[in-house]
Amino acid sequence: MTWKRAALLRPALERLLEGTDAAARVRGDPVELPHRYSDPRDVEVAALLSSALAYGRVDLFKPRLSALLDRLGPSPAATASDSSPAELLERASGFAYRMTDARDVACLLYGAGAMLRAHGSLGASFAKHYRNSVSIKTALGAFVDELCAADFRPITGRRAPTRRLKHLLPHPGRGSACKRLNLFLRWMVRGPDGVDFGLWREVPVSELVVPLDTHVHRIGRFIGLTRRKDLSWRTAEEVTRRLRSLDPADPVRYDFALSHLGISGTCAARKDARRCAGCALKPICRFWT
Ligand code: SF4
Repeated sequence: MTWKRAALLRPALERLLEGTDAAARVRGDPVELPHRYSDPRDVEVAALLSSALAYGRVDLFKPRLSALLDRLGPSPAATASDSSPAELLERASGFAYRMTDARDVACLLYGAGAMLRAHGSLGASFAKHYRNSVSIKTALGAFVDELCAADFRPITGRRAPTRRLKHLLPHPGRGSACKRLNLFLRWMVRGPDGVDFGLWREVPVSELVVPLDTHVHRIGRFIGLTRRKDLSWRTAEEVTRRLRSLDPADPVRYDFALSHLGISGTCAARKDARRCAGCALKPICRFWT
């Protein structure tokens, strides 16, 4: 990105950040759910579930997630690590959201429980993979492999992870943008700032990859963060590279604000004099420049 372009982008994105009421937006975001907990292990497990199941419409999946967490009791981490597969199925029973059902949730908890027993925390597992990896992408791939390494026969009748579990835990090595896994990482690594938790200190914030959802991708195209049309890991890396040139220490600091500009319906996604009038990104949006 040219110096001139960066000089235009940075103040516009800063204005967007300043104008975003993060506390209000958190109430409409899945990150609100792990904020229920104070023990870092419970935050991690609630965050893993909340990010993995954050697909589709937030007003549809969030109430189901909230009820699921209620069924896991006061400590989701203790439930994940100390329960048998049958007990996990019982806890998850009744959960249904689009292509995900109780068995998928039980598998996710079973994998997380095995990780907790082996490492003490999900963060300790990720840190080990990060130390042994050349990039955050390979560390994330190893983390997913470990979550999916359990023998799932007591839950699904099959040893290997089902396609539906793989949908919840896509592997970055297969080219997916892995939006929900990068969201989980953003929550765990950045902050604490009232949105993200800042629990995983061994992973540098500067290495994070933007959780590329449809909103960040679309608005990113409007303001020149990418021209790529696919929601892929390569596109997420390109957007991140351009954001990193604005803030090398914290390339995903604008992600929450960008995403909620789209989620809230504030962005017109076209030239709309009335709706674009108050948008902080108007000076850099391709519809107006
Ligand atoms: S100027 Fe309009 S179209 Fe462009 S990002 Fe803002 S709201 Fe969206």
